[in-house]
Order: sequence, then structure tokens, then C-alpha cells
Amino acid sequence: MSSIRELNARELAEFEPDLSSRFAKALFMQGEGQIDNRQLLKAFRHELEYRVNWISNACVEVAPYSVSVQNTKDEFSLVIDCRGLSAKNDLPALRRLEANLLLSQRPGHTLTTDSLYASRFPIYIVPRQNSKYLIGATSFESGDMRGVTVQSTFELLSAAVSLHSGFALAEIVELRSNRRPAFLDNNPRIVISLD
Ligand SMILES: Cc1cc2nc3c(=O)[nH]c(=O)nc-3n(C[C@H](O)[C@H](O)[C@H](O)COP(=O)(O)OP(=O)(O)OC[C@H]3O[C@@H](n4cnc5c(N)ncnc54)[C@H](O)[C@@H]3O)c2cc1C
Repeated sequence: MSSIRELNARELAEFEPDLSSRFAKALFMQGEGQIDNRQLLKAFRHELEYRVNWISNACVEVAPYSVSVQNTKDEFSLVIDCRGLSAKNDLPALRRLEANLLLSQRPGHTLTTDSLYASRFPIYIVPRQNSKYLIGATSFESGDMRGVTVQSTFELLSAAVSLHSGFALAEIVELRSNRRPAFLDNNPRIVISLD
């Protein structure tokens, strides 16, 4: 369970010494966690590959009680459709949001919390293994499928450096742009289709 506590400058200096000269207060979300999505997906695959009928790189067609893949249609009592934006035909309310994120590597490891959200700058910074930091994410309504733009890179980098000057010397390991599905209220939703 996550509980939120306001930190004063002295307490912030104990948690994140490198940030205390720039911020007089902060919010600490005790119990707030994060998962490395890439590690999680690898672990899922490792666990599931030999336990289920695992088919890779195939386009599926889903219906409430059937899945068709590679010219074979199988019936099921429950089908969970996880096609993301590709389910838009069945869920017209789904909209496409573009997000950009950046992975950087910094010598040393001076951010200790699981994740850091900045209120003055719209970013989060999440320490990952091997002194890597995930910095994300710009988010805007997307009409096309462009790659990473100069503007979003600029916004992410300047926010990161404003938050912690050490990022000015960071090596950029990865810059990524992608589209994510969202409903109008941005809340996750389970939609049950019976026919
Ligand atoms: C740059 C970026 C940063 C983000 N950062 C965060 C973050 O820090 N924290 C967070 O919680 N969320 C984050 N998100 C959002 C998160 O990634 C999405 O909310 C999540 O991936 C949506 O999951 P999904 O399974 O609904 O769709 P997707 O992740 O889009 O997965 C759908 C999958 O289905 C496959 N597929 C589609 N159609 C078919 C078909 N017919 N047959 C077979 N396969 C098909 C697609 O190839 C895809 O692999 C971020 C998103 C982006 C783009």
C-alpha cells in the first residue's frame, strides 16, 4: 500500500542528497513500486512458453469465444483480447496517444528512490539496473506514426537536467517513440463482450 508523506528540505536531503539544493520540499510515496516492463515480459515468456501453446509473430483474429491464427480457428470459453490499438474497430472509443521516452546511463548512482515524479516538469525518472535511468514520458494526441521528435527529446532532456544537473553528462542509450491505447478518461477498463 502506498502512503504519501510530505518531506521538508532536511528530510529530502536524507532521501535524495543531490536534489536537496534545488527543492525545498517533496512528496514521498512510501510503498510506491515499479516494475521493469522488459524484464517482466521476458519472465512471462520464460514461464509460459512451455506451459501453453505459445505462438510467436502471428496475426490473430479474435471474437468473444474464438481465436483464429494461421488458418486455424479454436473455440474457448473465455478470450482475453490484448491487441491494444488494433482493437479499435471493436472499441471505437479507444484513442491513440503518442509517448516518447529516453533511457540514459549515468556514471554513479545518486537517485535512490524507486521512481521520481516532478511536479514542475511533466516527467518521471525511474532508476533501472546498471546505472540506467528511464526518463519519460511526453504524451500527446497522435495523428501519424512519426518517430521521436526534436521537440519531445528537447522537453524530456531539459526537464531531466533541470531536475538533476548530472543528467547533462549522461549518455543517451535509447530514445523511443510509440503509441499507446487510452480511453477518453485515461483510465484502464475491462470491457466484456458476450456476442
Ligand atoms: C513511450 C511509452 C512510454 C510508456 N511508459 C509507461 C510507463 O512508464 N508506465 C506505464 O504504466 N505505462 C507506460 N506506457 C503505456 C503502456 O505501454 C501501455 O499502456 C500498454 O503497453 C498498453 O498495453 P496493451 O497490452 O493494451 O497494448 P500494447 O502494449 O500496444 O500491446 C498490444 C500488442 O498486441 C499486438 N497485436 C495487435 N494486434 C494483433 C493481432 N491482430 N495479432 C497479434 N498481435 C497483435 C501488438 O503487436 C502489441 O504487441 C508507455 C507507453 C509508451 C508508448
